[in-house]
Amino acid sequence: MAVNRDSSVNSCDFVLFGTLGDLARRKLLPAMYQLDRAGLLHEDTRIVGVARSAMSQQEFLDAVQTALNTFVKESLEPDVLSRYLSRLTYYSTDFTDPSGFADLKNHLAPGSVMVNYFATPPSIYGAIGKCLKENELIQPDTRVVLEKPIGNDLASSKVINDQVAEYFEENQIYRIDHYLGKETVQNLVALRFANSLFASKWDNRTIDHVQITVAEEVGIEGRWGYFDGAGQMRDMIQNHLLQVLSLVAMDPPVNLDADSIRDEKVKVLKSLRPIDHTNVYENSVRGQYARGFLRGESVPGYLEEEGANTESDCETFVALRVDIDNWRWAGVPFYLRSGKRMPTKHSEIVVQFKNPPHNLYKDLYKELPPNKLTIRLQPHEGVEIQVMNKVPGLDSSTRLQTSKLDLSFSDTFKNARIADAYERLLLECMLGNQSLFVRRDEVEQAWTWCDSIIEAWQRSNEPPKRYPAGSWGPVASVAMITRDGRAWE
Ligand code: NDP
Repeated sequence: MAVNRDSSVNSCDFVLFGTLGDLARRKLLPAMYQLDRAGLLHEDTRIVGVARSAMSQQEFLDAVQTALNTFVKESLEPDVLSRYLSRLTYYSTDFTDPSGFADLKNHLAPGSVMVNYFATPPSIYGAIGKCLKENELIQPDTRVVLEKPIGNDLASSKVINDQVAEYFEENQIYRIDHYLGKETVQNLVALRFANSLFASKWDNRTIDHVQITVAEEVGIEGRWGYFDGAGQMRDMIQNHLLQVLSLVAMDPPVNLDADSIRDEKVKVLKSLRPIDHTNVYENSVRGQYARGFLRGESVPGYLEEEGANTESDCETFVALRVDIDNWRWAGVPFYLRSGKRMPTKHSEIVVQFKNPPHNLYKDLYKELPPNKLTIRLQPHEGVEIQVMNKVPGLDSSTRLQTSKLDLSFSDTFKNARIADAYERLLLECMLGNQSLFVRRDEVEQAWTWCDSIIEAWQRSNEPPKRYPAGSWGPVASVAMITRDGRAWE
């Protein structure tokens, strides 16, 4: 479906369920403010905050302003703030009680597109859908935005998706993976398909291997209860890393329509070679952080965090060797790594190219250092290419040196503000563009693949390998890639 990118024709009622929850306060309300500031909200667009607590309109506005003061990085602009607050109304109800929704329509503008954001536990997505349906609030153009996690495994994700599908068609459902809203992740598609330099060199003839790292410096930040039921595999790999991997590996889509892109991504997910009990040792490493030092300070281990079950076998680190069994990527491993309490917060993709077929510089290098394309997702967003250069000079023997062509976003696009991922995603869903949202078959395919690994870990009954906080994970992760004659970046 063609997307009309003129925001002035897209007025909508943005209905935010769970309006003063953590996600809404930290990300969603600030993102809507930024869109308003940038002039990207239609003058008739309104925001209806829905939650359980009884609260006056003024108390709600005060709470929103507090959230903006806390979570918007720049100082608030008085004119924008007053325009933004004037869009907001508060509606209180239990999300599972259909009778409580009876007056909600009085907060909506007739004829406006209703965009519902479920910033709530997934267990009540179906209940909210039912309440909306029973109150005749779902029209063909109504949309619903769902937060991760969509389930804990394939079976539970199907239950949630089925519940939502009772009330909404797939073209009304926007499943969030906030990595898809990051500028650098979107740039990956541009880099690949708008540059013949890369487009023609993106396969097993030229590429040796790919690494995708998403390292977090933080531990579990008081979310022990949630995290321990999930682990790094479900929390990071099943969604963010597999989404990034599918964008790196997909074939060119026929165009940039949502389904054309998602068709290609799902083909990659279907081509992932299964990791199961027969090959789990060679292809995966699970770790859990122990007490260690970060930035010179002692930090507790996972089992010493507040509220911890001291027997927990939950992983806080995963490294995988992933093979994609298709024509383009046969023989090119993708190494994925994600962990908590790493030395720095750092997410990047490194594409390492094969060496030239013949080494003319044998006297200098037994093996030439490879070309590498590094896409820094965060921080210091940008793209970097490592190349070999001759060191200038009249010396009798040639000297070479690796150097970097560095395209830092902040240096190259000096006045451009890098928007938060949620700003992009909220804008796209108000515009009715699903290309940055995850389709049901992608979620299910990703779960199928991850479930097999989790099952193999459970079957092996081996506890995760300990690594000190502030390190890059268990040594087994280094051993896994070294065995292939390669090294983590
Ligand atoms: P919170 O628990 O902070 O907020 C959930 C909100 O939903 C609360 O306002 C709560 O109201 C409301 N709520 C829950 N049940 C009902 C009900 N029956 N009736 C009315 N209101 C209800 O959760 P988060 O904001 O942290 O997370 C929301 C969703 O986003 C979850 O699916 C989470 O997994 C996902 N998510 C969150 C992230 C984050 O950074 N926080 C990151 C990625 C995903 P009350 O306060 O009255 O209980």
